[in-house]
Amino acid sequence: MHAADNVAIVANDGGLPAGTALPGGPTLRDKVPQGHKVALVDLPAGTEVRRYDVTIGRTTQDLPAGSWVHERVLEMPQARALEALPMATSRVAPMEPLAGFTFEGYRNADGSVGTRNILAITQTVQCVAGVVDFAVQRIKSELLPLYPHVDDVVGLEHSYGCGVAIDAPDAVIPIRTLRNISRNPNFGGEVMVVSLGCEKLQPERLLPPGTIPITDTRADGTAGLDVVCLQDDSHVGFMSMIEGVMRQARVHLERLNRRRRETVPASALVVGVQCGGSDAFSGVTANPAVGFCTDLLVRAGATVMFSEVTEVRDGIAQLTSRAATPEVAEAMVKEMAWYDAYLQRGSADRSANTTPGNKQGGLSNIVEKAMGSIVKSGSAQIAGALSPGERLSDKGITSGLVYAATPASDFICGTLQLAAGMNMHIFTTGRGTPYGLAACPVVKVATRTDLARRWHDLMDINAGRIADGESTIEETGWEMFRLLLEVASGRKKTWAEHWKLHNALVLFNPAPIT
Ligand code: CA
Repeated sequence: MHAADNVAIVANDGGLPAGTALPGGPTLRDKVPQGHKVALVDLPAGTEVRRYDVTIGRTTQDLPAGSWVHERVLEMPQARALEALPMATSRVAPMEPLAGFTFEGYRNADGSVGTRNILAITQTVQCVAGVVDFAVQRIKSELLPLYPHVDDVVGLEHSYGCGVAIDAPDAVIPIRTLRNISRNPNFGGEVMVVSLGCEKLQPERLLPPGTIPITDTRADGTAGLDVVCLQDDSHVGFMSMIEGVMRQARVHLERLNRRRRETVPASALVVGVQCGGSDAFSGVTANPAVGFCTDLLVRAGATVMFSEVTEVRDGIAQLTSRAATPEVAEAMVKEMAWYDAYLQRGSADRSANTTPGNKQGGLSNIVEKAMGSIVKSGSAQIAGALSPGERLSDKGITSGLVYAATPASDFICGTLQLAAGMNMHIFTTGRGTPYGLAACPVVKVATRTDLARRWHDLMDINAGRIADGESTIEETGWEMFRLLLEVASGRKKTWAEHWKLHNALVLFNPAPIT
């Protein structure tokens, strides 16, 4: 990955047997699995092992050239302290604007643009989830066929709302996440709420006056927050609740159905990038291609969010130096410090991130994983930073590369990026995951051809062709950029959309449960 590295990884499917002579390198002393590291030179015990020109650990025993270098012979370095970091020091040359790219999207009253036209049913509390799900099934079969310009109806089910310490300082995170998801651009500004009645998270607390435009949303024609409350005296019997939800749904479906796609500039894209089920190829193929695509999007005036705190923590100095201003650098340091403390409170640290599958895929520790993950951010200046659950437009961010702090957990990261205002999602995977979201198209990118071959009807792009020598990072990055515009326009569906694969909304709730 860099001329100064003293290890390289085996790219071949199935790995390579001991005795294989590497072209221009040593002969393998061990059988080395695909994606795993080989010592290019002798590495005596205590040697710094370098990949991506970064120290990913020290050897705990003598490893002659050609040895397999894995997590059991490496000691992980300490995390970089959050003091004395380079703050907005790097002189990133301004990027050449990329003009002329458009897509067909749904313009919203608040200036945002949807890539899908979806009715979302917001829920104040988990208690109502079964009722909403029942109503959603009936809306899908009985109402949606009458509204052909509406793509889908989605119940925003979650586990929050009651049985929680709602006044704890960190409760602000799950509450604003729910609030901001209901305002996602793919829901067209239509907000309807189903509430139980006795829950802690009352509708007015979830959506206080001023957070959403109040129109004549209620079925009775009055203005105000549109809430169907299941404990309301007017409901006698279960079917009364279902009919109440369906009657409200019609009001919103009527309006959504009148919307049409319009040609909008590519700058209206708000793309969340993420990885999950990573392997040693993630940082070689898929993530660098995402980074190239990120640069194209930023040049086109779009907004790109990268996230996953534990996967960038070891690259904090790279990030703070790339910040557009010292304030943005400070904001990123604040997010990292908060997360360090959060992990410490649970007697853990960033090393808790790596999974058995990551290690099987050749990633020895979080430092190595982070260096492969951070390249998704490309090379642009970092224009802003968000705390978990915050919304881009509330912070005045309308373009550029943004660090949106989230856990690395796939569904929690996706949920928080939805809250931030994401209208397209790119997701890379090495081990393979069928991840999908109901509210936003997810373009999935395989890091290896072997995965893309086996999961041919789940993976949208094969970045493994880069390792095979059949494509370049730039070519795959352009392929991704063009596919994003096609999918955003509704001309193409992702495989996750085709099969209707949806993961749950999973809230980040660092506050206590009661
Ligand atoms: Ca992830």
